[in-house]
Amino acid sequence: MVINDLKQVCQQCAGSGRQAAFSEWGIAQINPDGRCHTCRGRGFELTALGHELLELLRPFVEEIVADRQPAPPKEAQDEAP
Ligand SMILES: [Zn+2]
Repeated sequence: MVINDLKQVCQQCAGSGRQAAFSEWGIAQINPDGRCHTCRGRGFELTALGHELLELLRPFVEEIVADRQPAPPKEAQDEAP
C-alpha cells in the first residue's frame, strides 16, 4: 500500500489548497478565507480506503487527545454540584 491509495490530489484546487473564488448558482463569489472548500485547504482528499483507515484509527486518536487534555483546575472541581 502506498500513500496515494489513501489520498488523492484535490481536483478542485489541483493540490494547492487555495481557491480565490467559487461559483454558487453559476455566480462567481469571492472566497473570504481563500481556502479550498472541497479539501478545506489540505490540497488532497481521502480516498474510500483513506476514510476506512481514518475510522479505524479514530478511537486511538481520540484516546490520545483525551489524555492530553489538561485536568480542570481544582476550584472548578470543587464548585461542581
Ligand atoms: Zn482543494
